[in-house]
Amino acid sequence: MTLVTMKEMLEKAKAEQYAVAQFNLNGVQWAQAILQAAEEERSPVILAASDRMVPFLGGYRVIAVMVAELVKEMGITVPVALHLDHGMKVENCKKAIDAGFTSVMIDGSHDPIGQNIAMTGEVVAYARRYGVSVEAEVGTVGGMEDGMVGGIRYADPEECAALVKETRVDALAAALGSVHGPYRGEPVLGFAEMEQISDLVGIPLVLHGASGIPEHQIRRAISLGHAKININTECLQAWAAALRKTLNADPGLYDPRAILTPGTEAIKEAARAKLREFGSAGKA
Ligand code: 13P
Repeated sequence: MTLVTMKEMLEKAKAEQYAVAQFNLNGVQWAQAILQAAEEERSPVILAASDRMVPFLGGYRVIAVMVAELVKEMGITVPVALHLDHGMKVENCKKAIDAGFTSVMIDGSHDPIGQNIAMTGEVVAYARRYGVSVEAEVGTVGGMEDGMVGGIRYADPEECAALVKETRVDALAAALGSVHGPYRGEPVLGFAEMEQISDLVGIPLVLHGASGIPEHQIRRAISLGHAKININTECLQAWAAALRKTLNADPGLYDPRAILTPGTEAIKEAARAKLREFGSAGKA
């Protein structure tokens, strides 16, 4: 199957009250593990490259070719979207689109709302020419974002409504207390604001920083309009734990297949659990 955009995926998910998982890529093994998990679970899935990780992963084109070819090579039949996560500049979103990404996020959340709207609008105009879907962000997700540490800033409902109305963006990340990376204690999400924003904007919402959010809060977020949920840290932690265990068990190991395959298996199992938890298993 060729790569698809996330627009139809998310509209179906919102209508049927489940969420499509976005998993961040941290290397080729992530793509292999997550594609396998999605295929086995018969689930749509979004593979994402965070803009700050793009140089580490080899550049926009390498990522796009890698994912598109893996989908063919592995005989993947479930819908797969390739998404740019936290696009830092309009220019970077255009580069990702030109390279073959089927979806992009423009993160103008650190700028004043007028500028965020202008940037998002420019990306939407470009993306429409290629049939690519676009996600925007209002408010700030806290915690560690690929080396950048930030504080939480709740999304303002009026700003969310204005951005969606003026840009016709496909999905909105309205930051309401979630953080990238591990939580200290139980997450405190703004469910009242979530309901208000979902009613105001009408489009699928995106939950960033979902690693560590308990299942009952995930279910509530889905019932209040979230159709896309982003996971990175839990896969990283599963991978790192497996790697540590493997290396500690045999300090003489040097074959990368022996060292890295348990990590790939760990990512696959972590991803599989999320696909079931988010209700997308069996929906492809
Ligand atoms: P976590 O690393 O907290 O799972 O967040 C992932 C994310 O939101 C990527 O945009």
